[in-house]
Amino acid sequence: MSTYRDLALPRALGSARTGGAPIGSRRATVLRTVGPRERRSHLTAPRVPTVGIDIGGTKVMAGVVDADGTILEKVRTETPDKSKSPKVVEDTIVELVLDLSDRHDVHAVGIGAAGWVDADRSNVLFAPHLNWRNEPLRDRLAGRLAVPVMVDNDANTAAWAEWRFGAGRGEDHLVMITLGTGIGGAILEDGQVKRGRFGVAGEFGHMQVVPGGHRCPCGNRGCWEQYSSGNALVREARELAAADSPVAYGIIDRVQGNIPEITGPLITELAREGDAMCVELLQDIGQWLGVGIANLAAALDPSCFVIGGGVSAADDLLIGPARDAFRRHLTGRGYRPEARIARAQLGPEAGMVGAADLARLVARRFRRAKRRRVERYERYERYSDARRAAQGSGSL
Ligand SMILES: [Zn+2]
Repeated sequence: MSTYRDLALPRALGSARTGGAPIGSRRATVLRTVGPRERRSHLTAPRVPTVGIDIGGTKVMAGVVDADGTILEKVRTETPDKSKSPKVVEDTIVELVLDLSDRHDVHAVGIGAAGWVDADRSNVLFAPHLNWRNEPLRDRLAGRLAVPVMVDNDANTAAWAEWRFGAGRGEDHLVMITLGTGIGGAILEDGQVKRGRFGVAGEFGHMQVVPGGHRCPCGNRGCWEQYSSGNALVREARELAAADSPVAYGIIDRVQGNIPEITGPLITELAREGDAMCVELLQDIGQWLGVGIANLAAALDPSCFVIGGGVSAADDLLIGPARDAFRRHLTGRGYRPEARIARAQLGPEAGMVGAADLARLVARRFRRAKRRRVERYERYERYSDARRAAQGSGSL
C-alpha cells in the first residue's frame, strides 16, 4: 500500500475542516463527487458488517460482509422479469435485507446494479435487464430500510472489491475489465472510483475497434465487446459448428449436434482438454482483449489491469494471448513501464463484496434496538395490508 494513497483522502478532509485552507482541485473533486455522508475513506469507515447486493441480469445476490471482505452469509433469488414494475425489484431487495438482518447486525446496504447510475449515485438512469428508467433507487430504499443505502454500477463495485481484497491490492491506478456476455469496466485512482461527470465512465465495451464490424445491440458496429466477450466466443464457435467445419467436430460431438447448447463454459472446458478450435477461439478473444487494453493504457496509463467476469475462468488460455497482444500494440513499447495484467481473484462475488464495502463509507453505528423497531413496524404494516386485502376479498 502506498503512503500517498493512504493519506490522500484524510488530508482532503482535514483541509475541509480547517476551512481557511486553499481549495485545491483535489479537494474540489472530493467534495463534488461524493455526498455529505460519503466524505470518508475506507480507512476511517466504521468496521461494521454491511449488506452488499449484486443485481444482475438473471439473479440477485445479497450477502453480509465484514470489514475484512469476508462473506458471513449469502442469499440469492431470481431477478424479477423486465416487465415487472420497479416496485417489485424494490420489494425483492427489501425482502433479502430483512431476511439477513434477522441474523446479523446490518449498518448499511450497498447495491451494485447492472446499469447506469448517475454521478450522485442516487438514481439508476437505465438498466438493460430491468424496468428502471431514471429510478430514484437510493432514496426509495433508504426510506424503507432505515439504514443508509449506497447505489453504484456493478463493474465499479467489483473493481472496488478487487482493489481492496483481491488482485488489485496495493495498486494506485487500476482498471478493471469484466468479460461476461459483454464487457464492463471501471477506473480506480488513488482510492476513488472515477465515475465521470454523468456517472457512466468505464463503458469500454462500446469503443469501436473494427470500423464497419459486427453489429452491436448498442446500435453501432465493431464495438470491442463484439470481439472480446463471452458472446463473441460463443458466436464464433456456433458459426463454425453450423458451417460443419472439420475444426468444430470436437464440440459438435460434445453437444451431439445441438448447436444452441454451445456455451462459454463448455468452450473453456474443451480448451482445457486440448481441443484445438476452442484453444484458438480463446486466443482470438485474448488477442482482441490485449488490443483493447493497449488502447486503454494509451488513454489512462494505469499500473494494473484486472480481468474478471465469467470468461476469465479460462485463465492463461485467455490472459496469455492478451499479454502478448498488449505488448505488441502498446504505444511507445520498449520505452515505458508496462502495466501488469492480472486475473481477478474474488470470482462472481466481487460485485457483492465491493457493494458492501462501499456501503461502509456511508454506514452509521445504529443502535440495534431502534433498527429492529423500524423493521418490526414495516413487517406489521405488510401483515395488516395482507389481512385487509384478504378481508376485502371475503376469504376471512
Ligand atoms: Zn456497442
